[in-house]
Amino acid sequence: MLPIRIRLTFWYVGIFSITLILYSMFLFTFVSHKIMNNTDRELLAEAKESRDIFLEEMTKPSFEELDEELRGINYYLQIYSMDGRSLYSSANLYNAELPVDTVSFKGIREGRHTFRDVTLFRHTEVRALFYPIGSGGTTRYYMVIAMPLSEQQAFLHMLSIILTLVTPIVIIVASWGGIVIAGRAMKPVDEIIETAKRIEAGNLAEQIKIKTHNDEIGKLAGTFNDMLMRLQKAFDSLANFSQNVSHELKTPLTVMKSGIEITMREKKSAAEYRELLVSLLEEVDQMTRTIDDLLLTSLSDTASIRASFASVDLSGLILQTIDFLGILVTDKDVVLEHHVHGGIIVPGNERLLKRALSNIIDNAIKFTPSGKRVSVSLAKGDKGAVIVISDQGIGIPEEEIPKIFDRFYRGKSANSEGHGLGLNIVKWIIELHGGTISAVSTSGGTSFTIGLPSSSTLPPPSPGKLSC
Ligand code: ADP
Repeated sequence: MLPIRIRLTFWYVGIFSITLILYSMFLFTFVSHKIMNNTDRELLAEAKESRDIFLEEMTKPSFEELDEELRGINYYLQIYSMDGRSLYSSANLYNAELPVDTVSFKGIREGRHTFRDVTLFRHTEVRALFYPIGSGGTTRYYMVIAMPLSEQQAFLHMLSIILTLVTPIVIIVASWGGIVIAGRAMKPVDEIIETAKRIEAGNLAEQIKIKTHNDEIGKLAGTFNDMLMRLQKAFDSLANFSQNVSHELKTPLTVMKSGIEITMREKKSAAEYRELLVSLLEEVDQMTRTIDDLLLTSLSDTASIRASFASVDLSGLILQTIDFLGILVTDKDVVLEHHVHGGIIVPGNERLLKRALSNIIDNAIKFTPSGKRVSVSLAKGDKGAVIVISDQGIGIPEEEIPKIFDRFYRGKSANSEGHGLGLNIVKWIIELHGGTISAVSTSGGTSFTIGLPSSSTLPPPSPGKLSC
């Protein structure tokens, strides 16, 4: 298959050539018709003039005035009586005769004039007019008046040469122009092909340079760049996910492996084997949770989660979560209080919002010593809902605050529980809902503030992973 630019040029040149040839043919035919019409009109005018002079001079001994009339112009003139006698013959004919064919003679007899192309002196092309002269409806004489066609023929010959030479030159120039224009139009496509060839998994960030965004090629390049950006994000997410998984699973797997090796080396009692299995099960559970959390933030399709957003009764959801976590505070003797404004509805995913609230309230309970308080409040804000979760716990050192939302970050004072993904997931969920989250802390406790918009107009989805 030929390249598009060649096919486009072929079509363009083909249509252009046919149009140009037809136009040249039309022009030539039109001009030659016009010239012949003018010649005929001139002949007829001259014939009428000569007829009048002839009728006037008929009775005179010579046709002086008629000779004078014809002197300046190179017309041939002959006048005959109807029985074929030559009554007048112009000097430029010498002894030659203008031939009268039967069709023209028939016309003369019927009182009609006719035109014909005739060859005189063997090679002179002339335009001849066969003209009846008569009075009272009777033809008494007839005239043959002829004009040489050399000038007209020369002009038409020149015109045909110009058209025959110019047409192919114009076609060649147009073809060259067509190739150049098609080449220019297709150049951005070449750039897209070259960029696409260079792109591999490692350099998905490479973009096609777009000169104009409004034309079809610009839009194609823009769509291609958007696709590359999405691929880059998906690829980053996958790379990040694999990195995190291998990093997180390495330590527990090493611990499990050495535990199994030690147990296998020495003979153990059934109770000791059982103890090992229980600790292995705990590790496996922990690993499963880590993988689930990583899967959620790394590989979830944010666009489809947003597409499934429904109205969530945030007031009811907070009360439900507090109720669900009530068991933890009873265990620890922490007071969990709440000030929840009723009837606050936000667009979102109920399961994910519950997960975010649980993570923060759970942390607050975890880091708050017995006898202290954790409070949860929900109020209406300017743009939506405002949730504040405050505790009287150990607090977070100022320098740690910017890091607590990072993946796998665990504070210095954190105990053995947790794997540093809880707040990362919270941030991911809140941003997915178009909201914000911030934390302030003193030695007297920590306070998290979450803002959730009440309208479903959300900013474009952030990449499938969070900043680490
Ligand atoms: P983890 O699940 O390991 O607790 P998170 O992401 O939930 O991880 O929290 C990250 C770190 O933030 C914790 O290790 C802890 O140091 C700190 N942190 C979170 N919430 C609180 C809180 N309410 N009080 C004090 N420190 C907190």
